[in-house]
Amino acid sequence: MSTSTRRGGSGPTLPRGGGAGAARQSTLREHNLAVVLERVIGAHAVGTPLSRSGIAGEVGLARATVSDLVDRLIGARLVTELDPLTSPGAGRPAVPLAPTARSVVGLGLSVGTDHLAALVVDLTGLTVTQRVVEADLRGRDPAETLAQLAELAADARRAVLAQGMVVAGACVALPGLVSRESARLRYAPNLGWQDLGVDTALHAHPDLASLPVTAANDADLAARTEVEERRRRERAPVEEQSYLFVYGAVGIGSAVVLGGQVFGGLHGWSGEIGHVLVDPKGPPCHCGSDGCLEPYAGREALATCAGLPLDTSVQALAHAAAAPGPVADAVAAAGASLGQAAATVVNVVDVDEVVLGGIYAPLFAGLAPTVLAELERRALIARWSSIRLTKAVGGTNAAARGAALVVLDDVVADPSRWLGGPT
Ligand SMILES: [Zn+2]
Repeated sequence: MSTSTRRGGSGPTLPRGGGAGAARQSTLREHNLAVVLERVIGAHAVGTPLSRSGIAGEVGLARATVSDLVDRLIGARLVTELDPLTSPGAGRPAVPLAPTARSVVGLGLSVGTDHLAALVVDLTGLTVTQRVVEADLRGRDPAETLAQLAELAADARRAVLAQGMVVAGACVALPGLVSRESARLRYAPNLGWQDLGVDTALHAHPDLASLPVTAANDADLAARTEVEERRRRERAPVEEQSYLFVYGAVGIGSAVVLGGQVFGGLHGWSGEIGHVLVDPKGPPCHCGSDGCLEPYAGREALATCAGLPLDTSVQALAHAAAAPGPVADAVAAAGASLGQAAATVVNVVDVDEVVLGGIYAPLFAGLAPTVLAELERRALIARWSSIRLTKAVGGTNAAARGAALVVLDDVVADPSRWLGGPT
């Protein structure tokens, strides 16, 4: 699933389409509103908030035009003014701008084999509230699970509404193939779900009936969070972020990130690294094939190989893997399979970094030596360039957080919808 990503430093360009003069003027203003809001958020995210003049210089618009656009964004409660910066003898002090906290927010939801989550994020990137329920959801009636998710979502929405915030929409992270154009899950082998309208299920809840709902693959959304967190924590420019992001859970997903954008493929279904072949004589996989990566390196495969119960927590696995023994050996063996599959993808898509997220982040120390050894042995790029293996910084609930960020991406792409003020 392709997800749009805020990009820093993009200058104003004429929108596609056109039409009568008045319409074109209006469209241009809407486009410039989006450009200015994106710059305010981007500069604030990396700790260097810009004033009206600073934004005008960066986006190539007249200061008066930017000032008018900023005033509109302030009126819409999307942008706020910070305390003026006073510098002696420099004339009128500059007023830095920031996205408005706790105003328009995105609701990110997540369904995994072992959890449900609802998480609200505001335009500053702050997680305003979150709810997580841990439960084994495999084999459970999807209608029952989605009703529980709707209840969780409605509860989170009520909590932020009571504080004066407005929920722009919801996006649901799902561990499977999701149709790009609709909130329809095609297939989630580990949940045993197929062909479900997630939006219909959420809209059945009276408090969510009018909420815009989309859905996307969980690994793609976790990758969206990775892009954002690298920008915020490491000041990594979005455009310079290109890697294979691997998202471990019971299943294993991945996303190819190129220039900060998640590459979705023709239908948005790319990145199914869990079903890359690692051994044609290997064990059966939930997808119906056999010898896939998942039976070698998925969470349950790891626990089984280590001689531990299937529901062993990742933290317990990581703790046990820190000392030599069967758990460390199981993690290292999973790493070898993971490295083989990752090398195959790297050879196909041409990136020089592999990021391990999801359950692989806490297991990184145990996995890294064998993953890297396989990458260096099998990825052709390693012959003349270094290939990097890094630990994801997106944290837990990265998929739900990415879902909330995608909702906010839509707000940033078209702020004119909010000019009447959040209602
Ligand atoms: Zn498979």
